[in-house]
Amino acid sequence: MEAPTTVNLERAGVLLKTILNRIQKYPGFSYAAFRLLGDAGQLRLEIDVEPRKGSCGRCSGCGRPRSGYDRLKARRFEFVPLWGMPVYFVYGMRRLNCPLCGIRVEIVPWADGKNHLTKAYAWFLAVWAKRMSWSDVAAAFQTTWENVFRSVEMAVEWGRRHRSLDDIESLGIDELYWSRKNQYLTLVYQIDEGNRRLLWIGKKRKVRTLMRFFRWFGPQRSQALHFICSDMWKPYLRVIAKKAGQAIHVLDRFHIASHLSKAIDEVRAKEAKDLLARGRQPLLKRTRWLLLKRPENLTPNQEIGLAELLRHNLRAVRAYLLKEDLQSFWDYRSPFWAGAFLDRWCTRVMRSRLEPMKKVARMLRAHRPLILNWFRARRQLSIGAVEGLNGKARVITKRAYGFRTYRAAEIALYHGLGRLPEPSFTHRFC
Ligand SMILES: [Zn+2]
Repeated sequence: MEAPTTVNLERAGVLLKTILNRIQKYPGFSYAAFRLLGDAGQLRLEIDVEPRKGSCGRCSGCGRPRSGYDRLKARRFEFVPLWGMPVYFVYGMRRLNCPLCGIRVEIVPWADGKNHLTKAYAWFLAVWAKRMSWSDVAAAFQTTWENVFRSVEMAVEWGRRHRSLDDIESLGIDELYWSRKNQYLTLVYQIDEGNRRLLWIGKKRKVRTLMRFFRWFGPQRSQALHFICSDMWKPYLRVIAKKAGQAIHVLDRFHIASHLSKAIDEVRAKEAKDLLARGRQPLLKRTRWLLLKRPENLTPNQEIGLAELLRHNLRAVRAYLLKEDLQSFWDYRSPFWAGAFLDRWCTRVMRSRLEPMKKVARMLRAHRPLILNWFRARRQLSIGAVEGLNGKARVITKRAYGFRTYRAAEIALYHGLGRLPEPSFTHRFC
């Protein structure tokens, strides 16, 4: 005897119908027949949806209720899986006769436009995509990467339409290197205490990029800003001075530290090359991290390595010590004394004959007032906010999401860092 592949649950489906009506009821529509299809291991559940008698469909052009014209062939819309089985709504869309728009297909409350995923399922996937990678979500729920991406995109678009941009006082402007495209992205964060989130992303890091942000943000909100934190990147400085000149512009600690790390790296690489050219063992080959790490974060083994390195009077070590010295700059309370310290430090660096370090010192001198603003703002600003968000952004772009396109990277960053709102659901599936 062959096992039946189709079990009609029409009469036995009362319980399922009751549950569905409790968790996902659509006015003007009702659940009709249920079918269990396929063999063990590949079971799926289909649920026929019907318009209620006498109800009118809504026109996809104007949204108004209109009388029917005809019906299209039944389509399947994927719903949240049940017990590991895919679940589909089956519905033949009505075409409507609209005096304003002509013959139009109706809009249905469970799905958007041509999307074959129901909104409930798309939100379900999007919520999971915050907890694991998109390919993991696709594998876990036996769907495609593309479906997960579309769902997250839907959630991000909804969230961006519904988020509030009121009362933003502090911005952090940051750049993110996107290795896949060999390109920088500009990220603008809100860094107010208690509300740190990604507000905006733009391609590249040009004057044009940041101008686009301010155009989007609007003059009124820009004028209300108190603090802006950014790097010493010239295009940013120019645009900020022009668009939000009233805000205290702070060159933050995190960006200065990363310039110094890069300089040490350059000194180290050059020195290793020179040593090798003179036929000597380049001590510095695997020591990059020793010099870049904070001393308190070193493992015992690394400590020994660093001690070894310090015994040789190498240029990289001198660069490292200069960087360490600058740490105490941030402990000052008064901008005046901090300024005096900074001047002394820059003078020492200028005498060091370490060209990459001198470049940083020149940069710091040129932006002295903006650096000292840090001492004026640190009470109000959530220090380290930009650094924290930057770290998370890096993790998001590095995770193997398969970001071939800018769009995917953009969507993932907004989804992960935007703190975007979600609609309130009658029932949460996850
Ligand atoms: Zn219409």
